[in-house]
Amino acid sequence: MIIYLGGKGKDQSLNLTYFCASFMQSISQLFPLLQEPRKVIITTHQKPDPDAMGSSLGLYHFLQSFGHEVQVISPTNWAAFLDWMPGCDKVLDFETQQQAAVASIQQSDWIFCLDFNALSRTKKMAPLLENAKAKKILIDHHREPQTTVFEWGISDIEKSSTSEMIYDFIVQSGHADRINDFIMSCLYAGVMGDTGSFRFASATAGVHEMIASFKRNGLQHTRIHELIYDNYLENRYRFIGHVLSHRLEVIYELNVALIWVSKQDLLKFQIKTGDTEGLVNYPLGIQGIKVAALLIDRDEKRKWSFRSKGTFDCNTFARRHFNGGGHFNAAGGESDESLEQNLKQFRTVLLEYVEQLRNY
Ligand code: 5GP
Ligand code: MN
Repeated sequence: MIIYLGGKGKDQSLNLTYFCASFMQSISQLFPLLQEPRKVIITTHQKPDPDAMGSSLGLYHFLQSFGHEVQVISPTNWAAFLDWMPGCDKVLDFETQQQAAVASIQQSDWIFCLDFNALSRTKKMAPLLENAKAKKILIDHHREPQTTVFEWGISDIEKSSTSEMIYDFIVQSGHADRINDFIMSCLYAGVMGDTGSFRFASATAGVHEMIASFKRNGLQHTRIHELIYDNYLENRYRFIGHVLSHRLEVIYELNVALIWVSKQDLLKFQIKTGDTEGLVNYPLGIQGIKVAALLIDRDEKRKWSFRSKGTFDCNTFARRHFNGGGHFNAAGGESDESLEQNLKQFRTVLLEYVEQLRNY
């Protein structure tokens, strides 16, 4: 049994260290077991971002080097700007390749769950994971992990990214010599994504040391920035222009800005998975704005993203009002209600935070 230590440092509203009992065993117990080949599944949250995909594929290449039979399964599709990652072409999309994915899960010995804290983040895969006979392993940096479903695990909100945690896992297992160009590229992309290209407070000395070691081993980091950030189609920029002109609401009294995107907007600009990545950050560049919210009328749900600078706790806000969660300064949520209803609800719940927001 390990104790999950969370809250320190990043929980600026409480500034407390709190303890949460867990049933997970330490992942260091896996180290001696790595040598025996097994059938391994690696999965991550729906609509994987660079950290979700990068950590999964980084671990994929590492485990393959021991002769394990490894399959990465994504609960949904992903942005095209992740396709360059080595091994991405072997990843199964649960939505479109369900039969193969189900068979792999049922035959597996171990299931690594990366970059999410609760099985519900894998959407339609959740019941299958829950009932799988395989042993489940959590490696994640989100708050409030669902510890009871994992045999082994580590949850550390102090970590910049799950990709950094995979690096730690590899180094602590005593096999740092197996880190090759594939692993470095995948893990670099993940850490870059989750640290806002190394600008957030989570980009610690440890993160820079990891990158320094990658650079010494020949990592071409500029290429990775270009593959992720300079790889969009023109329509995405036209869409951003439209949204910033017509869908941005700045509430200066509360230092809050809100962007909403309708189904028609998504259709008109042919917006695909990944095209809205980073959109929520634009309003945070406006002088004085400390909290940004983005609402998208996506498929059957309305999807929220929240970002803050400083002491506004997005995780608690998303959890309390929009059925979500995440990190202190970056969280998300979802709702079955209409776009209009969500906008109304957002404006109403903001009133509960007037004192905090006005005096930022
Ligand atoms: P994003 O706004 O980029 O979708 O997500 C920001 C952070 O919040 C990510 O760490 C993501 O995992 C988390 N997050 C996003 N949507 C949800 C959600 O619906 N539920 C929970 N629990 N976390 C979410
Ligand atoms: Mn992450």
